[in-house]
Amino acid sequence: MTCLNRRSLWITVFFLFASVLLLFSGCQKNPSQMSISDVGFYFDTVVEIKLNGTEDESILKECFDLMAEYESLLSRTREGSDVWKINHNAGTPVSVSEDTVSLIRLARKYYDLSDGAFDITIAPYVTLWDFQNNPGTIPTKDELTAASKHVGFENVQVSGNTVTLADPETQIDLGGIAKGFIADRLKEYLTKEGIESAWINLGGNVLTIGMKPDKSPWKIGIRKPFGAATETAAVICVSGKSVVTSGTYERYFEKDGTIYHHILEPKTGQPVQNHLYSVTILSDSSADGDALSTTCFVLGKEDGIELVESLDGIEALFITDEQELIYSSGFPHQ
Ligand code: AMP
Ligand code: MG
Repeated sequence: MTCLNRRSLWITVFFLFASVLLLFSGCQKNPSQMSISDVGFYFDTVVEIKLNGTEDESILKECFDLMAEYESLLSRTREGSDVWKINHNAGTPVSVSEDTVSLIRLARKYYDLSDGAFDITIAPYVTLWDFQNNPGTIPTKDELTAASKHVGFENVQVSGNTVTLADPETQIDLGGIAKGFIADRLKEYLTKEGIESAWINLGGNVLTIGMKPDKSPWKIGIRKPFGAATETAAVICVSGKSVVTSGTYERYFEKDGTIYHHILEPKTGQPVQNHLYSVTILSDSSADGDALSTTCFVLGKEDGIELVESLDGIEALFITDEQELIYSSGFPHQ
């Protein structure tokens, strides 16, 4: 082979190799274009998780596994859950997970902060109303009065990892705070996995990580109460924040023209009637947002706004039964 021939052979090999390399690099996606998502049904509601910058399905799967774990720990109705064990062993100390204890301690904080408006011991009322079935049951005044004797956070004693219900008929229900707490745990896990952009939606309880892949903030629509599912009363742009709404329209039944909804007055066990349709809380922690949306709903617009204004890093939107929007002073509305 002449020297010239050998050179042209090497040149051909080089170009062949380079074009194969180019072909492969063309197949690889830019991380900003990668995105995976899935939906499921947990905590009696539809949940959705969307991760940007990854196509690692195992991370997504772990999120759903975590939700299943938390559901089997915190559900009031699931036999064998921590909450079930606490409720069915009243009078005796029950050893539970650290997560359950920290959630009960957080619930206590909001009970104290709201003078008892947020109270997880409303469980005996929840059982009577049976909102999980539609239509539920309207309890009699006597039934609610009898149940009210066992409602009160003073009956819940926490020591280390042990929870004791002092009154054998007291029960707890974490429905007003658990989804926010779980969303925070999911965010913690995803952040540990290096996820920088994600959307966690646990039945309208939204928690975001970072910004959207195009570096713009997430746009979150706040539902118009009793409007179509896609109809919004307001839209806010956030990055890394939690947006949680408590609303009458989320769980209710109607009988003889009256709406009976699931947010209950701890003293009476009746659905709260204060001309509000919904309260949305914007916060960093979703557990705080979840507890506060329920708390502020029960407190009503005056006391609710006062509480929000007294707290750092918390903003709120109250929507009245006339669809009037009342914002806290720092709410980023457009
Ligand atoms: P949310 O949608 O976060 O406002 O939670 C509503 C759920 O919280 C209800 O379905 C009940 O399980 C529970 N709940 C109702 N009233 C109260 C209350 N006053 N304090 C704490 N939890 C409540
Ligand atoms: Mg709540």
